[in-house]
Amino acid sequence: MTYIYSGVELEERLCPHCNEPLSPWIAPPESGWGVIVVCNNNKCNFFVGSDSDIINKRDDSNLGCRYAENPDNNYHPFNLLAWCK
Ligand SMILES: [Zn+2]
Repeated sequence: MTYIYSGVELEERLCPHCNEPLSPWIAPPESGWGVIVVCNNNKCNFFVGSDSDIINKRDDSNLGCRYAENPDNNYHPFNLLAWCK
């Protein structure tokens, strides 16, 4: 199954860590990415795990890593550094 988001055809993808659907997100122009798909599940094992790893290193940091895939690169997975609330 595919769908159109912001003029880009995307596959429906599931996060391999929590099985939630990945959400499309338009990356900032300076990142060099177009539309990417991201796991926005705050309970995702990938996100929760990365969050605690980073917090253990820096108490004042709210950074975490979300699971993301780049449709422009055959849905190659990568870590999207994100601020968590
Ligand atoms: Zn996930």
